[in-house]
Amino acid sequence: MSKVIGIDLGTTNSCVAVLEGEQAAIIPNAEGGRTTPSVVAITKNGERLVGDAAKRQLTVNVDRTISSIKREMGTAYRKSIDGKAYSPQEISAIILSKLKKDAEDYLGEPVQDAVITVPAYFDDSQRQATKDAGKIAGLNVMRIINEPTSAALAYGLDNGQAQKILVYDLGGGTFDVSVIEIGDNVIEVLATAGDNHLGGDDFDERLVDYVIKTFKKEQRVNLGKDITAIQRIREACESAKKELSNATQTHINLPFITTVKNEPKHIDMLITRELFNELTNDLVRRTDEPVNQALRDAGISAGELDRVLLVGGSTRIPAVVDEVKRLTGKEPSKNINPDECVAMGAAIQGGKLGGELMVTSKANEILLMDVTPLALSIETVGGVANVLIPRNSAIPTRVSKIFTTAGNFQKDVEIKVYQGERKYTRDNKLLGNFRLSGIKRAMAGVPQIEVTVDMDVNGILKVSAKDLGKGVEQQIVITSSTNLSDEEIRRAREDAMRYEAQSQSNMENQDIRNEAEAYVYKVEVLLKSTSLDKKQTKQVKHDLEYLKKLVCRSDSSALTDIEAGNIKEAYRQLQESARILEQ
Ligand code: AMP
Repeated sequence: MSKVIGIDLGTTNSCVAVLEGEQAAIIPNAEGGRTTPSVVAITKNGERLVGDAAKRQLTVNVDRTISSIKREMGTAYRKSIDGKAYSPQEISAIILSKLKKDAEDYLGEPVQDAVITVPAYFDDSQRQATKDAGKIAGLNVMRIINEPTSAALAYGLDNGQAQKILVYDLGGGTFDVSVIEIGDNVIEVLATAGDNHLGGDDFDERLVDYVIKTFKKEQRVNLGKDITAIQRIREACESAKKELSNATQTHINLPFITTVKNEPKHIDMLITRELFNELTNDLVRRTDEPVNQALRDAGISAGELDRVLLVGGSTRIPAVVDEVKRLTGKEPSKNINPDECVAMGAAIQGGKLGGELMVTSKANEILLMDVTPLALSIETVGGVANVLIPRNSAIPTRVSKIFTTAGNFQKDVEIKVYQGERKYTRDNKLLGNFRLSGIKRAMAGVPQIEVTVDMDVNGILKVSAKDLGKGVEQQIVITSSTNLSDEEIRRAREDAMRYEAQSQSNMENQDIRNEAEAYVYKVEVLLKSTSLDKKQTKQVKHDLEYLKKLVCRSDSSALTDIEAGNIKEAYRQLQESARILEQ
């Protein structure tokens, strides 16, 4: 079996790791980075850029660049580029394909299997969408695990003693908090809570708003609709935010942000940490309730915590660290890297599933016990959510409950499955519905309909209903309307494969062009240093000029197969005629 990689598919950055011996190691990307920006761009000539290359051109290509796609996972969002509507799954698959390729280059062998992490708070459709993204990228997703659990796994290996820890994970787009117990080789999630729409991006946005408002006040110019200007401001704000994690003040300096009556306008603002804290205080405070809820659900007080772990880039913000200290009364541990520990935990889990760990090793003995983050219910009369699996139940789990009919001689019932904490189903998220038909003729309240809900280790659901009187049964794997059908996944996979082949042929074309270019230079030097007469070199010069023209004319980033074919032919021709120079 080939190596199983662990992937932290992040909102802002992604990271991939693999088990080497008994240790998880981060796999550097092709650009040498330990994390890869979760940014995808489709260039005007159809080329797909991922990571640093996509991020670098964001300002000049805003419309064709996609970032923070994780926020859209499990929704019906589509990004339309050149008439093609990309689903969040497909965009995530483009990121995953790059991580897969980087891992293959690093390991020197094909990679198929992966463990991918998701925020603990991801619901069924978001988990399913993540799994489908993996499929489209050509990965066999062996397991979906929760990010905080994964971090604890990376952490748990170095620390033998039993302890209760709180993992506070504030990334680019999501916030997760989990209370985890590490004990006799078991990592058990006691409770988890969070906010799917809170992260570093929101902190950036507060600064962006401030800069735009201040600029408007000072210069009477509204930059709010200038996409390129906003993008530049956003990047500068993110940098300023990061600087403020170490410095007490910084400048946002953006020359030539716009022109008014041909007069250039510049942004130059001083931002203090104090101002930044003021602008973002409510965001930091929004993490209080999930932390308290997780502690309440785990049935422990903050004082009983042995340790607090910080995960995610946004936990570098000093006000966030202060808030965690205030909430827990503990100094957070600093001995794990907040950007890398999630992928490392996934790699450890991957190694375990792939049978790579020694049976006697510490990591192999550790058992992961995850929980479901949200209650699972069936709608009953009056739109009431009848809970089958309460939140924070350990998974995998299977629960059955008997329901009955509300009307006399009712022939069928509709089973609607919801995920969420609220009392009425209208406030929760509908995951799917199906109909159980052919119920035995009876008065209201007589039929016994058994509904069974199965949640697998990935937190993905299967629901079945059975009329105990007649034995008819219906079963569905929950697929919400936002999920892709098998057919759509198959098509997206084919598309991705076509693209992979295309980018391979792009690289080959590129090599041909580079080789030809180098040869042009060589022949030019040879021509200058040989003493052949004009007649002898006429053909060489002719072929040289022709090849030179083709090489110069072609766009080095997107060579078509026809252009590459012409270059190849002209190159061959020149090699033949220039042979006399080399004799
Ligand atoms: P993650 O999703 O864990 O990669 O976290 C990414 C988020 O962390 C982004 O919003 C970054 O801007 C933010 N981030 C990274 N480094 C820092 C830092 N030094 N200070 C504040 N925020 C940071």
